[in-house]
Amino acid sequence: MTTRRRMLMGAAALAALPILPWRVPAAAAQAMKDEQRRTDPALLNRAPLIQTERAAEIAPGVTVIPDPRINLVPNIGIVAGRDAVLVVDTGIGVENGRRVLETARRIAAGRPLMLTLTHFHPEHGYGAQVFKGQARILYNRPQAEELRAKGPAYLAMFRGFGPDVAKALEGVEIVEPDETYEGERRIDLGGRTVMLSDMAAHTRGDQIVHLPDERIVFTGDLAENGFFPIFPDEDAKGQRWIEVLKRIEALDPKQVVAGHGAVAGPEVLRAVRAYLEDVQGEVRRLAASGAPVEEVDRRLTPLLKQRYAGWDNDMWVPFAVRVFHAEATGTPLKLPSF
Ligand SMILES: [Zn+2]
Repeated sequence: MTTRRRMLMGAAALAALPILPWRVPAAAAQAMKDEQRRTDPALLNRAPLIQTERAAEIAPGVTVIPDPRINLVPNIGIVAGRDAVLVVDTGIGVENGRRVLETARRIAAGRPLMLTLTHFHPEHGYGAQVFKGQARILYNRPQAEELRAKGPAYLAMFRGFGPDVAKALEGVEIVEPDETYEGERRIDLGGRTVMLSDMAAHTRGDQIVHLPDERIVFTGDLAENGFFPIFPDEDAKGQRWIEVLKRIEALDPKQVVAGHGAVAGPEVLRAVRAYLEDVQGEVRRLAASGAPVEEVDRRLTPLLKQRYAGWDNDMWVPFAVRVFHAEATGTPLKLPSF
């Protein structure tokens, strides 16, 4: 469908709506000031290669290889202590894993490496095989289980996302962690404490990586800066996601390394939560009038896309609408197809 046709359809759907409150939550409005224009889709969909030459410290000993706003390239973290170095996420595929490992080795200068992943999704962790035997691999237990349960299906699905992604996934094997933990794990890297905390919402096995002394948190896709939150399958939960963001906000981080998008302050957490609460509120209001999910989706999705017009990847809006509808009504979840 052309953009123009989509816009016209959106306009028609809007015209048919009864008066709805037009209110961009303040936190979301603030976050959107820096992201007034959507990224050109051609730029978003370049080959998903980690650009290690862009690696930079966001605090002494805390390096981020930033996401250049290419889909399927996440922010990567490398956290160095006196005795060991922790890598957070690998990027998608062997070549990206190799690039990240090389950067981590350079920083580590002989110190032992650890690897953890924010969640099991391919763009975050399907370079882990390169680290096997080179770093101690540690995940939260639900993530390890979700990887085991869904890993092969996600690999097959992502290989269908075009030639660049298929190429990135050549030779990828899913590897088991060396160790798992329950709930929370404190790691002492030597003069630097890292807390790993299980916080499922975007998947069954998300975890955050929190540096309490530096007040830095790596959220994985629990927060994305300037992208719509992704509800990829039935394990993404709306209400739980709102609660998880409140827990992360309560840690009072100074810097938030989102799964995708620029490193920011805590406003990015508030912006994502404001959006989720907005979707939840609108869905509840329409669902209370007895509207079936298709109608709620048809009426709400164009409105939300316009309300958050500065964010990228708006194809995820109807997924959010349907998750919140299922939660509001207790009816079975019916996600749109990709
Ligand atoms: Zn994800």
